[in-house]
Amino acid sequence: MNIDRHGRTIDYLRISVTDRCNLRCRYCMPEDGVAWRPHDAMLTLEEITRLVAIAAQEGFSRIRLTGGEPLVRLGIADLVRNITQTPGIERVAMTTNGILLPKFAKDLREAGLTRVNISLDTLDPAQFTHITRWGDINDVFAGIDTALRVGFNPVKINAVVVRSLKQDLLAFAKLSISRPLHVRFIEYMPVGDPQGEDGLGWSVQDTIPNQELIELINERAEAGGLGRLIGLNSATSPEGWGPARYYRFEGALGTVGFISALSRHFCKECNRLRVTAEGDLRPCLFSDLEFSVKAALRSGDDDEVRRILCEALAAKPDEHHNQVGTERLMSQIGG
Ligand code: SAM
Ligand code: SF4
Repeated sequence: MNIDRHGRTIDYLRISVTDRCNLRCRYCMPEDGVAWRPHDAMLTLEEITRLVAIAAQEGFSRIRLTGGEPLVRLGIADLVRNITQTPGIERVAMTTNGILLPKFAKDLREAGLTRVNISLDTLDPAQFTHITRWGDINDVFAGIDTALRVGFNPVKINAVVVRSLKQDLLAFAKLSISRPLHVRFIEYMPVGDPQGEDGLGWSVQDTIPNQELIELINERAEAGGLGRLIGLNSATSPEGWGPARYYRFEGALGTVGFISALSRHFCKECNRLRVTAEGDLRPCLFSDLEFSVKAALRSGDDDEVRRILCEALAAKPDEHHNQVGTERLMSQIGG
């Protein structure tokens, strides 16, 4: 059932396990966090595990846990263990801000998590605190160190790039040289951005097209004697489930990747379905169309869960047509 109407194989489920977070990135969440919801509005860990088991029977084999911040969800390592032990699930990954990795990485690794993406948008400590409202960049660095130490592979660093941040792009790219880190530059997406006086005021116009980004990095790298980035093919790129294009500096242990959701449509290669923390299946990041599986999961009606999964899959559009949903924040969808 996991081939959609447009011929794409959909085998990758991205699950938001919470809409809470220990940071408040200004482009992702308002300062007060998300509106209070009763505890039972969220899927329980058992319900998430059940959903994964049914999805696996329908051909899903890769799971990413995201949020909000997945590491603030109580019992997260148990959830990872349950998912990795689900027949049909081949790989489990997590997207995290990294702050709590020193505390949980070892348990997560033992529970079967193999891959982590750590979000970090700037290398400047003051700018990091400003973007996240109160975060300490040293906690993220400690999280990255721990991720490498416990043996996650690959460890990817996700940086949302916008012109107005004036990020030191070369310093980011250089993180990939002496350690096996895969640095990915991601285009900002105007999904549910809590704009307003407290926001960062980013807009689509603020994005830097990939080709320009690559050129900027190459110019600076050449001036610094590093040489230009070398393009990689699918055999030499780190294994990924998404649409990044990868490069490497000569002799580097890691890679540099570029992801553009808006300027280069990757909809043709779309392989995913999203689940919100409240149990809504979301066929496309950019559309507010959702299908709730919560009631079916709660009543133990697996066939109905399966039917709703099929319905959500059938509703996957061919592409996002530059429409952007507005009803949910990125922290609720999971990025
Ligand atoms: N808390 C975790 C983290 O920050 O990695 C996981 C959830 S977060 C919503 C997932 C990713 O979405 C992060 O890398 C974040 O930078 C990215 N993100 C959030 N809002 C975004 C936006 N408007 N455009 C592009 N990426 C965004
Ligand atoms: Fe939290 Fe991640 Fe959103 Fe930042 S991007 S507020 S860390 S969910």
